[in-house]
Amino acid sequence: MFNLRYQVAKLVDDYYLGEIVEQFDKQGRVPAPRYVVWDCSRKCNLRCVHCGAVKERYAGELTAEQIRRAIGELAGLGVNMLAATGGEPLLREDLLDVLEYASRRGLRTGISTNGFLIDEAMADRIRACSLHSVQVSLDGLENTHNQIRNHPESFRRAVHALRLLRERRIPIVSVATTVMPQNLAELGALRELLLQLGIKRWRLAIVLPIGRADGTSLALNSEQLLTLLRFVQASRKRIGLYLGENLTFLGEWERKLRDAPLYCPAGLRACCIGVDGHVRGCPEQPDEPSTREGSVLERPFAEIWQKGFRRYRNREILAQDPACAACRSKYDCWGGCWVMRSQDRHCIYRLLGNGPR
Ligand code: SF4
Ligand code: SF4
Repeated sequence: MFNLRYQVAKLVDDYYLGEIVEQFDKQGRVPAPRYVVWDCSRKCNLRCVHCGAVKERYAGELTAEQIRRAIGELAGLGVNMLAATGGEPLLREDLLDVLEYASRRGLRTGISTNGFLIDEAMADRIRACSLHSVQVSLDGLENTHNQIRNHPESFRRAVHALRLLRERRIPIVSVATTVMPQNLAELGALRELLLQLGIKRWRLAIVLPIGRADGTSLALNSEQLLTLLRFVQASRKRIGLYLGENLTFLGEWERKLRDAPLYCPAGLRACCIGVDGHVRGCPEQPDEPSTREGSVLERPFAEIWQKGFRRYRNREILAQDPACAACRSKYDCWGGCWVMRSQDRHCIYRLLGNGPR
């Protein structure tokens, strides 16, 4: 299928990624990341069945002063955006003060939250600290969401939060849904609810094989994944719907479902500052020695960004993985999501159960 918007976006992206790889090869330097995710806390007030943030244990979280110092560096480098995730970010009492500081330093700010703590007063504070985007998780209609999130009030509170945030005209209020066999059949009804709530951006992702979901049966099979792709195709004219990047390259579905390519941005355009200051590719990666590139408590962020992240930039994975090496789509896909790869669930052709590549 020919999609002009997609073609233009791909040309721009190919040029940008080509520049990054070339600069890295020739000068050993890359541009600053466009956005940085701050994994600000592993505490949470819910106990979701698919949570990826439950395995690691930390001695402590970065203090407000420590993260402010890092934010000062990001601002100096020209990073566009800082997004806080967790755990539940709003359990950090200093979160909004820190994000307000980031906003004063010229960064756009955002949070991903379960919405549970957003009452009138919290919504006012969010508005007052110039937060640019709030993404609230909603994983189904009331019973399903409450079962997945393990709390009888979680749906009502999340929907209430969305209403309050919309009333306060936060620039971007979006919803994130993790699709699994338990909620696949409810996506149509959920779409109608979001339309009623005035939500214009809806992010759908599949379960990452990490944390509580590691080794469980929350993954879609190939038939169910096809159902999801068909749902996106049928719905994307009605609501701003996009597939999160753990579904990176979509094979023959790519141009039907997207107007721009979606590559894994880890180490190329983005990275994550972890709870205790270790920097890694993205917040979904387990925070462990193999994913850590350095700590902002020990080295300047710019040095970590420039000297780390080699495997994301040299693309050796395309040669090391025999399937990728032989794949006709390798320069469209770039090897898929690193987290999905850890459980061999990174390749769209295999997920859909069809070949040959
Ligand atoms: S074989 Fe590798 S490059 Fe090809 S689509 Fe699968 S993950 Fe992507
Ligand atoms: S590793 Fe996967 S989840 Fe992380 S940024 Fe890349 S595509 Fe997204």
